[in-house]
Amino acid sequence: MDKFEQMMQDIRKISPKDMAMAEEKFKGMCKCPSCPTHNKCAKNAKELIFCIKGKSFMCISEDKGCICPSCPVTTECGYKNKFFCIKGAEKAQRYEHALWGTKMV
Ligand code: SF4
Ligand code: SF4
Repeated sequence: MDKFEQMMQDIRKISPKDMAMAEEKFKGMCKCPSCPTHNKCAKNAKELIFCIKGKSFMCISEDKGCICPSCPVTTECGYKNKFFCIKGAEKAQRYEHALWGTKMV
């Protein structure tokens, strides 16, 4: 089990309140506002942490580069993917979009 998989297991045990606090922490760390792909629409909608929340809602469709690999959230959560605003959250890119991406742990 890698770092991300362990984190997903741990999340199952925390309360909704602690989950909300963790999301606020990650929002403060998110580098999306400095990314060329993060456009005016996404900024006005305060869209952040696509790695957790999933794709941008009707704002981002044009790829102008992704700085997720340099974000501390990528390191802390052990992400293998990027372009979360266009391709979906780490969980989605790993498992939900895959034809056969799950395994028993
Ligand atoms: S990994 Fe990307 S989407 Fe996730 S918090 Fe960092 S910059 Fe934002
Ligand atoms: S998810 Fe990646 S590509 Fe999208 S805005 Fe954030 S840093 Fe840029």
